[in-house]
Amino acid sequence: MSELSLAQAKLEVLKLRKQLDSWAYAYYVQDAPVVEDNIYDQVYQQLLELEQKYPVLIDPDSITQRVGGNTKSDLAKVVHEQPMLSMGDVFSKDELLEFDQRIQKMVGHVVDYNVELKIDGLSLSLEYKAGKLVRASTRGNGHIGEDVTANAMHIEDIPKFLPQKIDIEVRGECYMDKATFAKLNFERDDQGLAIFANPRNAAAGSLRQLDANVTKKRQLSTYIYTWVNPPETITSQHQAILTMAELGFHTNTTGCKLSSINEVFDFIDKYTNQRSELTYGIDGIVLKVDDLALQAKLGNTVKIPRWEIAYKFPPEEQETVVQNIVWTV
Ligand code: NAD
Repeated sequence: MSELSLAQAKLEVLKLRKQLDSWAYAYYVQDAPVVEDNIYDQVYQQLLELEQKYPVLIDPDSITQRVGGNTKSDLAKVVHEQPMLSMGDVFSKDELLEFDQRIQKMVGHVVDYNVELKIDGLSLSLEYKAGKLVRASTRGNGHIGEDVTANAMHIEDIPKFLPQKIDIEVRGECYMDKATFAKLNFERDDQGLAIFANPRNAAAGSLRQLDANVTKKRQLSTYIYTWVNPPETITSQHQAILTMAELGFHTNTTGCKLSSINEVFDFIDKYTNQRSELTYGIDGIVLKVDDLALQAKLGNTVKIPRWEIAYKFPPEEQETVVQNIVWTV
C-alpha cells in the first residue's frame, strides 16, 4: 500500500468500515450475505492493516474491535454472562507458525494444542439447570444474543436432559449438513421460493425463527466444543470434549491433541484434501491451547481469545456467487 497521509488514511478507514458494516448486517442479521466470505476477509484484512499502521484511527466501534453480529428485533434477548467471542484467523501456515511462536513466548515453553475442525455454522449456547435444558441462545453481538430455546428443543442431537442433575453451560456450532441443505434448496426451488446461498446461512435462517416448527422441519445438527467454567477436575480442552460426549452432547470426533506445529500442518493437509468428502461444511481448522489453566492465563482481547486461532481454508471452487440471489428466511 502506498504511503497515505493521516487524513487520507482516515477517509479510507471510514470507507472500509462502512462497507464491512453493511456486509456484516446482511450476513449476521439478515442471514443473506451479498459477497463471498473471502472477499469480506480481504477487505477486513485491509482495514486491520490500516488500523495497525495508524493506531490513532482505532475506534471501539470498528468491526475489528467488536464481535461482528447483532440480534433480530423480533426474537427475545439473552444476556451472556460470559461473552461469546469471535476468533482470530490466519490464512497461511507461516502465520500459524507465528501464532505458535507467540504462544510459546507468552507462556515460556512449548504447548499442546487441541486441533478441531472449524464447523461452518453459527454459535449456539445451551444452558442446563439440574440437568434440564432451560435456555438456548445465539451469539448476537457477543454480549446480547437471541433466545432460541423453543427452536433448540426441535434439534434432535441436543440433549434435553443430562444423565446428571448438574448446572452447566456448553457452547458449540449449530449447522445444516450438506445433504439436508441440498434437499431444502431443491424443494424451495421447486416451490418457487428463494434458495439459500450456503449451509451456514440456511442454518442461521432456520434456527432464528419465531415459529419453532420451521426449525423442526429444517433438521439442524450441532457439534458442541466448549464447556463454560467446567469443574476443576476438567483441566484440558481435550478432556472437556470427551466428558461432554459422555454427558450426551454431539461432539466432533476428528479433533485431536497434538504437540508439534508440524503435526498441526499434517492435520490441515489431511482436511484440505478430505474437506469435500465430509457430510458437513467446514471453513478451516481451529487450534486451541489445550491446557485450560494456560488458556485462562493467556486471556482474551475485547474480541478474541488469545489462546486459539482459526486457519481458514481457501474458498472451495464450487462455491456459489451470491450477489444475484434473492433472499427470504
Ligand atoms: P468466525 O466465524 O471466523 O470464527 C469464530 C466462530 O467459529 C465461533 O464463533 C464459532 O461459532 C465458530 N467455530 C466453528 N467451529 C469451531 C470450533 N471447533 N471451535 C470454536 N469455534 C468454532 O468469526 P466470526 O466473527 O463469527 O465471523 C467472521 C467471519 O464470518 C469472517 O471471517 C467471514 O468469513 C464471515 N463473514 C462473512 C460476511 C460476508 O458478507 N460474506 C460478513 C461477515 C462475516
